[in-house]
Amino acid sequence: MARASLEIAVVGAGIGGLTAAVALRQAGFDVHVYEQAPELTEVGGGINLGSNAARILYRLGFGDALDREAVRPLTTHQRRWQDGRTLQRAILNPRCEELYGAPHLNVHRADLLSIIATGFPSERIHLGHRLVGLADKGDPTEAWFENGVRISVDVLVGADGIHSAVRAALLGEEAPRFAGCVAYRGLVPVERIADLDLEVGAQSWLGPGAHLVHYFVSRGRLLNFVGWTEHDTWSREDWTDRATIARALSAFEGWHPQIPRIIAAADTCFVWALFDREPLPRWSIARTTMLGDACHPMYPFMAQGAAQAIEDGATLAACLVAGTEDPAAALQRYERLRRPRVTQLQAMSRANKARFHLPDGPEQEARDAEWARAGDRSPEALRWLYEFDASAIETAT
Ligand SMILES: Cc1cc2nc3c(=O)[nH]c(=O)nc-3n(C[C@H](O)[C@H](O)[C@H](O)COP(=O)(O)OP(=O)(O)OC[C@H]3O[C@@H](n4cnc5c(N)ncnc54)[C@H](O)[C@@H]3O)c2cc1C
Repeated sequence: MARASLEIAVVGAGIGGLTAAVALRQAGFDVHVYEQAPELTEVGGGINLGSNAARILYRLGFGDALDREAVRPLTTHQRRWQDGRTLQRAILNPRCEELYGAPHLNVHRADLLSIIATGFPSERIHLGHRLVGLADKGDPTEAWFENGVRISVDVLVGADGIHSAVRAALLGEEAPRFAGCVAYRGLVPVERIADLDLEVGAQSWLGPGAHLVHYFVSRGRLLNFVGWTEHDTWSREDWTDRATIARALSAFEGWHPQIPRIIAAADTCFVWALFDREPLPRWSIARTTMLGDACHPMYPFMAQGAAQAIEDGATLAACLVAGTEDPAAALQRYERLRRPRVTQLQAMSRANKARFHLPDGPEQEARDAEWARAGDRSPEALRWLYEFDASAIETAT
């Protein structure tokens, strides 16, 4: 089969779906994207992109735009919640580029999505198409949408997030589980906190049952913060729920003065509850597969959810190029290559929830001593994560 004759539908135009669509189209496939929303949107907020993900985006041709819009944090800095003492601190840039050929980036999600969208023809993005069902009889895959549209394609990729309709169709309905954590998120115009003289870096503040991360985005014009606190129950799962600034401030009462200064400088604050799924036994059936949060949502405590979705797209494109004549086998290969890495990151992200939120006491002191001895966030310590090339499948099985 000629490569161009493989018709591929990507369901979901988030960071994962759009990156995969660009990679697949650049590889020569006939790709269309189907998105439920009436327009391309990403919630306001920042994202950390390690070298492993940045490398893929640079290769896809987004280097100039990322250099313009994103921020290159100089350091990663873990600090203690009450007195601000340094627990560990490491150089990120330019070290990441020297070691791994791509920088570490902090970028606004909306900026990132707009940049990726420039790489894909808008007439091939079908907005207002909510997938409601599919039937994979091996060849071809049929899918239908709430608006009555039906399609028939050679390969269907579910990139439709944690509530994935593709996952439900392939593996059955199963509600995600509340992970016991809620995030308060906000963006602060930097002129309001200029007196804090913050270094251009990513700082994480760790305390009992909570942690708060902040870094610059949008050409350095905004400071993004995300403050995580533990809760027993939660009934909502929506980025757009607004929290009052007062509520966020009370969640971090007693913390170092820098934290309330930052929170109070935001105009609005959103609250978002963390949900999770157990690792899935499989991602693909016949000519349908999944990527990103649809098949491997993870706690954001390795800052790798979107990065892994980006990696998925690169590996998927490489596998389909290598196995165009047998797409089902190519999807199995894609899944075999990807699952061990994301499963490991899911487990590490979960473990970090406990490690980051230790109550003050002997365990926390042991953690701090270990970090002082051998920090685990430096580019050198994370070599296995950052140097990984998701497009290089030749030597993998
Ligand atoms: C607070 C927080 C901080 C984070 N920080 C980081 C970080 O620093 N670094 C990092 O790498 N990751 C981070 N993550 C994780 C990251 O945000 C996600 O892993 C990533 O956005 C998932 O992308 P996705 O494209 O798979 O899914 P989504 O972004 O959820 O996109 C899914 C898309 O599919 C569409 N869709 C859904 N259902 C249908 C349907 N039935 N039909 C058609 N379309 C549909 C949706 O509208 C949406 O556009 C963070 C997450 C959180 C919550």
